[in-house]
Amino acid sequence: MAMKYISTRGKAPELTFEDVLLTGLASDGGLYVPKEVPQYSKEEIESWRDLSYTELAHKIIYPFVEGSVDGDALKTMLEEVYSGFGHKAVAPVQQIDHNEYVLELFHGPTLAFKDFALQMLGRLLDYILERRHEKVVIMGATSGDTGSAAIEGTKACRNVDIFILHPNGKVSDVQRRQMTTVKGDNIFNIAIEGNFDQAQDMIKASFGDQTFLRGERKLVAVNSINWARIMSQIVYYFYSALNLGGPVRPMAYSVPTGNFGDIFAGYMAKKMGLPIEQLIIATNSNDVLHRLMSKNQYEVHPLQHTITPSMDIAVSSNFERLLFDLYDRDGDQLSELMAKMNAKEDVVSLDEAKLAKARELFDSCAVDEDTTVKTMQEVFDETGYLLDPHTAIGVKAARECRRNTRIPMITLGTAHPVKFEEAVQRAGYKMPELPHHLTDLMEREERLTVLPADLEKVQAFVAENTFK
Ligand SMILES: *Cc1c(COP(=O)(O)O)cnc(C)c1O
Repeated sequence: MAMKYISTRGKAPELTFEDVLLTGLASDGGLYVPKEVPQYSKEEIESWRDLSYTELAHKIIYPFVEGSVDGDALKTMLEEVYSGFGHKAVAPVQQIDHNEYVLELFHGPTLAFKDFALQMLGRLLDYILERRHEKVVIMGATSGDTGSAAIEGTKACRNVDIFILHPNGKVSDVQRRQMTTVKGDNIFNIAIEGNFDQAQDMIKASFGDQTFLRGERKLVAVNSINWARIMSQIVYYFYSALNLGGPVRPMAYSVPTGNFGDIFAGYMAKKMGLPIEQLIIATNSNDVLHRLMSKNQYEVHPLQHTITPSMDIAVSSNFERLLFDLYDRDGDQLSELMAKMNAKEDVVSLDEAKLAKARELFDSCAVDEDTTVKTMQEVFDETGYLLDPHTAIGVKAARECRRNTRIPMITLGTAHPVKFEEAVQRAGYKMPELPHHLTDLMEREERLTVLPADLEKVQAFVAENTFK
C-alpha cells in the first residue's frame, strides 16, 4: 500500500512519496509528514539484528516509498550509495567512556552526516524524474555542509541541474573546495558578494516566484524540510541501537541540532518502535529551542556566527513536525500557533500540557564556544579521540543532561574534524589528515562564478545555464 503524506497545516492535498519528494514545502505553508507511521514490535526489530546497514535501510525506507519506488530499484540505490562510504560498517560506533558512544556519521563522500540523506535524495530524484520524463532545478544556499553534500549527491543525475550559492570568501577552504572541485556539467557554484542571509533570501524569493524559469522547470528543495532526507536518517538510529544491544536495552541519544531534522529522525525511530528513552537537543549559542524547552519561551534572536556553522540557525523549521504531533495532528491549531511563532513579535508559549509531553522524551542544552573547545580537549585527553566541534556540543549536552547512566548514551558524530579548522586550532591540535579520497583536494581545479547579491542577476544566470 502506497503511503500517504499530509501537511502539518491541514489544508494542502495529501500526496504520495514522489510528489512529496518533488514538492518540498506544502501549498498551505506546512511540512509533509507520513499519514500513518509504520510500527514494529521488539521481536520484529530483534529479527533485523544481523542485517547489514544497506539491508536494514531497505527494511526501514521501503514502506515510506512504496508505490513510488520499486523494491529492487531501491535496493540498487542503497547498495550504490552506501558502498561509496569510507567505512565498511557505514555508521560505526566509537566508545568514548563507560556506556558512552559516538555514532560516526562522517564516512560519506563529504565527511558529514548529510551524505546519508543527500546521496539517496539525488538517486531518488533521478529515478522518479526519469520515469516521469521531467527535469528539475535545485537551488540552495549554504554556509557549509549542505551544499557540498547536495552537489556530491546529484553530480551523476541526468535530470537535475544544481545551483548552490555560498557567501564569497566566508566558507572555509576545505568546505568551498568540496563544492567547487566536483566535476559535472549540471553543477553550478555561485559565490555571492554578500553574506549567507542574503544568499538565503534570494533562494526564498526564487522559490516564491519561479517565473524566471519561464514555466519550463520546477525548483526542488534539498534542505531538511524535504521528507526524503528525514526518512534516510531514521536508519542509523536503528542500526546503532541494534549494535549496542537494542531493542532489548533502551537507548538515549544526544543530537547536535540546527534545523531539527536529524533529531526528528530519532523521534520517528521511537514512534516506529525503537525503545529510545531520551533525546537530547544539543545546540550552540543559537539556542531558540533550548529556551523554548527549558523556559517555555519561544523568541527568535538574531543569528550568531559560531565555530559550529552547520548549527547556526535562527529558527528550526522541522520543529513544526514535532509540534504537529504534540497538538494531536490538528492542522488548524497548528496553523494558528505557527502564525504566532513566525510573526516574531511576541514571546510565544506552548500549552503547558503539550510541553510536558515533549519533555517526557526530550531534554535540551546549549553549549557556548569555549565549552565546545574544552569538550574537544577533555575527550581527547581521556581517549585520544578528536571530536569535530558539532559533535563536541553533542557530547557535552549528553554529559549535562543524562538521566540514567545505565542506559547507553549515543552522541551523533555529525562531521569529521578536518572540516572545521578554526575549532581544531582553537583547541590546540594539528589538523588531521584528509581521508584518502580527498588527499588531493587542495590541488584540484575549482569552478565557480562570482555574482553580486542581486536577485535578478542570479536568476538570469540560473535560467541561462539550465539544461543547456
Ligand atoms: C546539518 C548539521 C547539523 C544540524 O543538523 P539538523 O538536522 O539541521 O538539526 C549538525 N552538525 C553538522 C555537522 C551538520 O552538518
